[in-house]
Amino acid sequence: MKDIIFDNFQNSVDESLLRHKSILDIVTKLQESQARINRAIAKSVTNCGCIKIDARKQQISQDSDDINELTKNLKTHLKGDLCENCREVIEREIGNHLFYLSSLCSTLDLNLYDALLKEYDRINMLGKYTLR
Ligand SMILES: [Zn+2]
Repeated sequence: MKDIIFDNFQNSVDESLLRHKSILDIVTKLQESQARINRAIAKSVTNCGCIKIDARKQQISQDSDDINELTKNLKTHLKGDLCENCREVIEREIGNHLFYLSSLCSTLDLNLYDALLKEYDRINMLGKYTLR
């Protein structure tokens, strides 16, 4: 079912991609859409104020070899929750980003869902040891 949704999404993107067929247009639009996500997050902090960023150096315990223990104290540096408006704006920007990611896949004759599945398998195989 989910693969059908992904494939339908990719097909719909292909059909609606009229102006930006060039790989150069797609990769630069993809980069622009990533910047717009970051901008929307920044605006949630600086304009709306529904979330705050309280960042400092991550405190990683040097005493433990247990990866669960090592990552337990890592922080997101995020305080608060997105308001409904900011959530909507960020979701829209993420959707726009997925549009260009999907069009990049199509242009390179890749399947977005296959890429997701392969990454999912890597995550499940390596778990926390992917060290990202
Ligand atoms: Zn907000």
